[in-house]
Amino acid sequence: MERPTSSPFVLDVHDLDRRPGTMRHLRQTVPAPVDLGTVVIGVPTGDDLDLDLRLESVMEGILVSGTVRARAVGECVRCLEEVVEDVDAGLQQLYAYPERAQAAAEDGDEEDVPVLEADHVDIETAVRDAVIPTLSFRPLCTPDCPGLCPECGARLAEAGPDHTHETIDPRWADLGRVFDEKES
Ligand SMILES: [Zn+2]
Ligand SMILES: [Zn+2]
Repeated sequence: MERPTSSPFVLDVHDLDRRPGTMRHLRQTVPAPVDLGTVVIGVPTGDDLDLDLRLESVMEGILVSGTVRARAVGECVRCLEEVVEDVDAGLQQLYAYPERAQAAAEDGDEEDVPVLEADHVDIETAVRDAVIPTLSFRPLCTPDCPGLCPECGARLAEAGPDHTHETIDPRWADLGRVFDEKES
């Protein structure tokens, strides 16, 4: 049977269809989809996603479980320096046979279980749901990143603790001007 789409996340599972107890492993590297991340950090589109999955035929459908590994790139929220994080996310998702999903829906205990269609499962949503919660909410280049100098924008981690500016407090600057005017 032809794949319904060319997505690398659509897996052919016809060999497991209706054969509870059978399973196989799938190790595959696929390109990361668009927007796999948050506004501050994510896996760059097209970068490697290493899938290490177990596809298991169960009574209700096909159970996909395993890990997704990748490298997420983002920006330090304090100094904007690049931050790289290893992603190692656990994934577990049941794809129910249509009649099982329907029965579950009628029982009222349906929980948005994706339905297995035409011997294929599309794991892209499951991959997103696994990866995105593992990403830092506030990525930092180092846990104690001092951020940027409010005067000149220099990275304080590089500029060092002695970094200062010979600026006069604006209130004193005004005072200075008053004296200047009196003298003239
Ligand atoms: Zn930083
Ligand atoms: Zn500065």
